[in-house]
This record gives sequence, C-alpha cells and structure tokens, in this order.
Amino acid sequence: MSDHAIAVRSLSKSFGRKDVLNDIELTVRAGEFFSLLGPSGCGKSTALRIIAGLERPDRGRVLLGGADVTDTPPHRRPTNLVFQQGALFPHMTVFDNVAYGLRARRTGRAEITRRVAEILDVVGMSEFAGRAPSTLSGGQRQRIAIARALVGRPDVLLLDEPLSALDLGLQLRMRRELRSLQRQTGTAFVCVTHNQSEAMEVSDRIAVMNDGRVEQIGTAEELYRAPVSRFVAGFIGENN
Ligand code: ADP
Ligand code: MG
Repeated sequence: MSDHAIAVRSLSKSFGRKDVLNDIELTVRAGEFFSLLGPSGCGKSTALRIIAGLERPDRGRVLLGGADVTDTPPHRRPTNLVFQQGALFPHMTVFDNVAYGLRARRTGRAEITRRVAEILDVVGMSEFAGRAPSTLSGGQRQRIAIARALVGRPDVLLLDEPLSALDLGLQLRMRRELRSLQRQTGTAFVCVTHNQSEAMEVSDRIAVMNDGRVEQIGTAEELYRAPVSRFVAGFIGENN
C-alpha cells in the first residue's frame, strides 16, 4: 500500500458562479493527524465531502491509499466521516449504534461483540453499552459517533468540526482524547476546524485554507515560525 493515505490533486469545485475550491493539492500520510484549518466559508467541509465521495469535484482527482477513487461511491471508499453532531440512531442502544456498520457488512456475532467492546473501551464508554443515546451528554454522544466510525477500521477517518458543538472545557479534554485515539488506532485522521488552537494542539500537520485555496501546509511550529502570507500569520496568531 502507498504511504499516502490521501492524495488530492488539482481539485476544483464551484457552486453556481462561486468558486468554492480552487486547485487544491494535499497529501495526507498514513497514520497522520492532519487538520484542514481556515475561517468559516473557506471550503473545508466541501473538500472533506469530496474526499468522502459525498460531493463530486468539477476538476481534479482523489486518491486513497494510492488508488484513484474519484469515481468511487462513498460506501466503497476506505473512509468514514464524523459530523459536528454525530447523529446516533435514537431507538438503538449504544452497542447497537456502534455495531450497525459491522452488521451491515455481515460480520460474525462474536467478532462484532469483540470489536464493539474494544472500541468502546478505547473511547472510554464501556459502561454505556446498554444505554439509549438520549441518556448521554453531548460529549458522550460524540465519543459514540467516533467509535461507530472507527469500529470498521477505516484507513482514514474524516472529522468535520467534531468538537465545535461541545462546551469549551469538554473541547479541551476531547482534543487530547482525539489525539490519543488517533495514535492508538494508527488511523489517518483528517480533521476540519476553524479553531487554530485546536489544530495546533492535535495535528502532525495542518493545511491552512483561505477562500478556496490552500495557503500553506506545515507543522504547527512551521506555520507559527515561518508563515508564507499575512493571512497565515494573522490566522495562526489569533487567540481563540
Ligand atoms: P467551510 O466548511 O470552510 O465553512 P464550506 O465548504 O461549507 O466551508 O462552504 C464553502 C462555500 O461554499 C460557502 O460559501 C458555502 O456557502 C458554499 N457552499 C457549500 N455547499 C454548498 C452547496 N451545496 N450549494 C451552494 N453553495 C454551497
Ligand atoms: Mg464547514
């Protein structure tokens, strides 16, 4: 397998007359925590949705693990997506929510039990297996949404503002949890955020986006020490 989890080449997308993505180039390494950082409306979610296959690019290619998936439907891609408020099935227990994708793929019962228990342990939710989603806090629900996305062992987990609906204290705690989860599973995480301190804290590398373009890609330290533009300097220097 390629050591590139994701390669995005010359990706462009317009909605009507608005150019939302303009010639995006990105490479995410296998097992890396990569963030797409930029202000609201700069095209982060659209880029993520194109990688997941939920949106088609006008131009450009998406490669996952070296294979061109530009024309591959979402359910055949080795990716999984978690949204800001990971919607759980309200009538199912936590266990059944996490097991859902494995059952759909006809995984054996013992294997399902083992893998759900394992991933609930990783996200610290073992004691909640029998609970209904409505009895969980926002942070607990988001942990379950992430567990559900990871249980099938995707090569790449795509997260769209996964912490932004949570209160600040919980965000700070879950940053560390996300990072440790990514290390434990060895899955490449691509995390969309508008919060520079979040991206700086958790990422191996960050792509800073502005108005449909990637301005710079680097480690937090590289972006901080050697920003290539006023925009990057201003955005990275912001306190939020
Ligand atoms: P971000 O996630 O960085 O906030 P988005 O990718 O959601 O940005 O959106 C980028 C731009 O594209 C915004 O101007 C948004 O209004 C526009 N946009 C996104 N999705 C659609 C759509 N389905 N139809 C029309 N415009 C869209
Ligand atoms: Mg968005």
